[in-house]
Amino acid sequence: MPKAIKILIVEDSDNDTELLLRELRKGGFEPVYKRVETAVDMEAALCNESWDIIISDYSMPHFDGIAALKLVKGLGIDLPFIISSANIGEEIAVMAMKAGAHDYIMKGNLARLVPAIEREIKEARLRSQHRDAEQQMHKLSSAVEQTADAVMITDPNGIIEYVNAAFTRITGFSKEEAIGRSTNMLKSGRHDEVFYAQLWQTLTQGNTFQDVFINRRKDGSLYYEEKSITPLKDKDGVVGHFISTGKDITEQMQTRERLHHLSHHDTLTGLPNRALFMDRLRQAILRARWNGRVVAVLFIDLDRFKNINETLGLDCGDRVLQTVAKRLNEGVRDGDTVARLGDDEFAVILEDIHQKEDIPVVVDKIIKPLSQAHVFDAHELFITTSIGISLYPNDGNDAQTLIQNADVAIHHAKENGNNNYSFYESEMNAQSLYRLNMESSLRKALEREEFILHYQPQVDVATGKIICFEALIRWQHPELGMVSPVEFIPLLEETGMINQVGRWVLHTACHTCRAWHDRGFTDIKIAVNISPVQFNDGDISSIVAEALAETGLDARFLEVELTESTIMRSPEKTVSIFSELKNMGVGLAIDDFGTGYSSLSYLQKFSIDILKIDRSFVKDVSKNNGDASIVSAIVSMAHSLKLKVVAEGVEDTQQLEFLEAKGCEMIQGFLFSKAVPAEQAGALLYTGVIKPEALRVVGSS
Ligand code: C2E
Ligand code: CA
Ligand code: CA
Repeated sequence: MPKAIKILIVEDSDNDTELLLRELRKGGFEPVYKRVETAVDMEAALCNESWDIIISDYSMPHFDGIAALKLVKGLGIDLPFIISSANIGEEIAVMAMKAGAHDYIMKGNLARLVPAIEREIKEARLRSQHRDAEQQMHKLSSAVEQTADAVMITDPNGIIEYVNAAFTRITGFSKEEAIGRSTNMLKSGRHDEVFYAQLWQTLTQGNTFQDVFINRRKDGSLYYEEKSITPLKDKDGVVGHFISTGKDITEQMQTRERLHHLSHHDTLTGLPNRALFMDRLRQAILRARWNGRVVAVLFIDLDRFKNINETLGLDCGDRVLQTVAKRLNEGVRDGDTVARLGDDEFAVILEDIHQKEDIPVVVDKIIKPLSQAHVFDAHELFITTSIGISLYPNDGNDAQTLIQNADVAIHHAKENGNNNYSFYESEMNAQSLYRLNMESSLRKALEREEFILHYQPQVDVATGKIICFEALIRWQHPELGMVSPVEFIPLLEETGMINQVGRWVLHTACHTCRAWHDRGFTDIKIAVNISPVQFNDGDISSIVAEALAETGLDARFLEVELTESTIMRSPEKTVSIFSELKNMGVGLAIDDFGTGYSSLSYLQKFSIDILKIDRSFVKDVSKNNGDASIVSAIVSMAHSLKLKVVAEGVEDTQQLEFLEAKGCEMIQGFLFSKAVPAEQAGALLYTGVIKPEALRVVGSS
């Protein structure tokens, strides 16, 4: 079958053209051709059509072979170009070949024509295939070059042969810096032997290795790379190269680390939270066990933080906590842990301490900055702290025990007042234990009827008659005997049990008083102490009303005693409760007057009936001029406000004489009687005027 061929013939002679065509047909070609003899026609033909080959005459009247060749090159066309000539010399042939012609033939000897065309067409095809391959290759390599992943090709020994732009962007190493060096330049030292052993085992087995690498950039910083390394094998299955592609996932890893951080830190202050604190403490203990050092656990509690939140707002409270966190961090050494365990609870782990004696210096450094003023919106705030300290190994071998004991110690620090710290001592546990025992037996005391009331008379100075009895509670402990209210009232208040016990006191006292009335002593009054907790927690006027109703005692005969601090806690509430009690007819007494800070004129707005001067002023009234003038001032001011005065703790006649002279109406104290059980109190009523001889002394003088 004849082979189709498209020939562009550059020739001025029809004859020569015909000869060429004949030769081609003879050689098995079926030529399609165009003959041109000027540059213009040739250019048009080249631009409008595609050709398999160009055969050009060497010399023509308007054109020549070399110019034709230049025109083809100028258009960037790669076509077999054969020059034909009637009489071509060696010299011209060489020149034509140099100019880029592929062959030349003599018009007189066309025998070489067909083989030359066949060869040149084949070569042109090869050239074109090669060009395509090159283009393909170029596309591929620019894809690799431009991909966002870092690509690196190494020889079997890990010597870098190629890196792409992303590699440079991620690592900071330029192509020139990377090529020829070992991949070791990226090692961060963050992976152990096992990691690399696995890597090489996978690769030598011909498999792809995939993992997250922590590598080091040129500037020394670390980055996370999610990487695959694939061995490239040749035809014989020998690994000639490794190709590694990797993604920089540093940001994702940082996000993950941030999440981890969030779950181990307090969001408000950024400090480690309790979980992380416990973890650090366990590690610190292990280290201390190893190097024989001491670890100190400091529990830090802000005193009365609740007040700040309540009075200045949560926002202010938050800012205080942040400042405290900052100051704490500044106060400790690097490597010591500061954590926030709860609302206003912070803790510090101090490591590397040689001995207990070194700690106070460190603690002072921590407390000092905390006690400086916090300034918020022109408010100056002073925060005090209490610190409890426990030590490893003295106070515990494990984190939990150390924390518990630091907590025990903090309660002692609080008892000692503001800005104090206490080391844990083993007796503290004994004390806490004692407290716990007391608490649990107190809980049972009411139902086991271990509480009783004693009654102490208040005597009219002028007549010596008993006007009133103050009910004072006692606890008959099955083992400890009679326990003073000074010891157990605070416990009742802390646990809230005072509400229940206080109700019982009110009821019992009213009941006893009513019994005296029933026996004919119809003027006698009863005074009952009301705890601040009871006053603030419960609906005290209903409780009082209930006790009166249940016992049938007329409200006129009940007096409630409250301390200054109780009524000052929330003056508005006090005013409304007082008016409720007043409306019922209940008398109101201010107890322990003089120990608080309120002025009498301020107290005026609370419709009070009686003022009880505290025992501490009465004690030295006859010896100490200061106390004497305080007492006389109180008495005269009370009178100007139409209040009656009771002097408490009167133990001797000198005191009595002084008080009488100042016009104090009533006296309560051991001089007449201590608090006694109900039967004895009843007996005193039968006696009528008590200690008449003492009063007579006064009365006659
Ligand atoms: P208080 O209300 O100031 O009671 C007077 C205390 O002074 C009583 O102590 C009483 O025994 C004592 N006392 C009276 N005269 C003298 C004296 O001449 N010399 C001395 N040295 N002391 C005298 P008590 O009974 O130990 O009570 C102590 C405190 O316990 C009371 O102080 C009161 O605050 C509280 N308390 C007692 N009973 C109750 C109660 O039923 N409810 C509440 N909430 N508190 C109570
Ligand atoms: Ca009292
Ligand atoms: Ca008192």
